[in-house]
Amino acid sequence: MPCAYHDQLVQIRRQLHQNPEEGWSEFTTTAFIVETLRKYGYEVLLGRKVINPDFCLGREPSVVQAGLERARKNGVSEALLEEMQELTGCVAVLDTGRPGPTLAIRFDIDCVPVTECTDPSHLPAREGFTSHNPGLMHACGHDAHTSVGLAVAHWVMDNKDALNGKIKILFQPAEEGVRGAAGMAASGIVDDADYFLASHCAMSAKSGELATNVYGFLCTTKFDVTFHGRPAHAGACPQDGRNALVAAANATVQMMGISRHSGGMTRVNIGQLIAGEGRNVIPSKAVMKLEVRGETSDINDYMVEQVNNICEGVAKSFGVTYDCRKMGEAVDLTSDKELVDVLNRCAGQIEGLKVLDKPNNFGGSEDATILCRRVQAKGGKAAFFVWGSNRPSGHHTATFDICESDMDVALTLWTKVIPAVLNR
Ligand SMILES: [Zn+2]
Repeated sequence: MPCAYHDQLVQIRRQLHQNPEEGWSEFTTTAFIVETLRKYGYEVLLGRKVINPDFCLGREPSVVQAGLERARKNGVSEALLEEMQELTGCVAVLDTGRPGPTLAIRFDIDCVPVTECTDPSHLPAREGFTSHNPGLMHACGHDAHTSVGLAVAHWVMDNKDALNGKIKILFQPAEEGVRGAAGMAASGIVDDADYFLASHCAMSAKSGELATNVYGFLCTTKFDVTFHGRPAHAGACPQDGRNALVAAANATVQMMGISRHSGGMTRVNIGQLIAGEGRNVIPSKAVMKLEVRGETSDINDYMVEQVNNICEGVAKSFGVTYDCRKMGEAVDLTSDKELVDVLNRCAGQIEGLKVLDKPNNFGGSEDATILCRRVQAKGGKAAFFVWGSNRPSGHHTATFDICESDMDVALTLWTKVIPAVLNR
């Protein structure tokens, strides 16, 4: 049954779907979120209050500038852009003034670099709300996450007299590539949270299903490794050159051969290798974009160490230097039973919603885990859940879509979980 906020959920989701923005460039999206939250009556924190720039991962200046330019074109005011301090994302805060715990909840806002399908078999194409930004698409459902987050904010404000404690609603940038959470965590914005909750739509849960026993968040680290060599004439004096391309190629082969770990799953991928200047020049520069994953932090650390050793060894043998920049990071997660019990109990009150009783393998990485861990490290409780939705194709594909009525279910769940946590 559609909830009272159904029209808002669909309208905002479709508006966001048409205006997808990549991680760290979500200025138009952030402006819309901020203005909506202020209209509801929230105190909204932005810029360095919610993101510590020293801990931002994978934030490309050219992408940031393109996002700023787009925002200006879209009519975002200079005053609001100034408040953002070139940092996207924001946090809505509501202190009820009554004693009670602090609950932080997190929604991610960025899109994926995918070109959206325009065939009428794809519902957004048929109904006229496909992406206006070429090469970019909300192909992971973060448009729905943001829409649900704003509807939650609306509901909280409408019901604030019946709530205790304090609520912080985080709209996190740059989840894709697991880049945004570290900066948000390092701002200290969740350090006072007694409870923290985050969620994702769809994944392996279908419409009408809720996964609260989610496992298999792979720890991951993303790197850009650059080898620096020395150019030389390939015919006249190759011995004077230092070949960065060969170093990177050797590193690639060696990394693919890192030994498995008996303690659990590992992954490694070199997704991009760009090297060289021209046919007859000894290549002086090579850039590798790579990632490793591990089932636990220890196993991921093992993969990171192997990657570092290989870079060091290869650099030595080819007489080149290298630098290694961390571009993204996520950790594993164990949800706290106290919050899982709350989720299960609240889900039980929603007709037609079935809590999956088997452990649900997330099978990917999520940087909400960084925020979860930050809260847990300070003695708070955290949990992550997946609200199901039927989808025509996989996440990050051109025909990805969700079933919009499932946003109503997600919102209804939040409207039960929030009082259950704050009014305990
Ligand atoms: Zn996602």
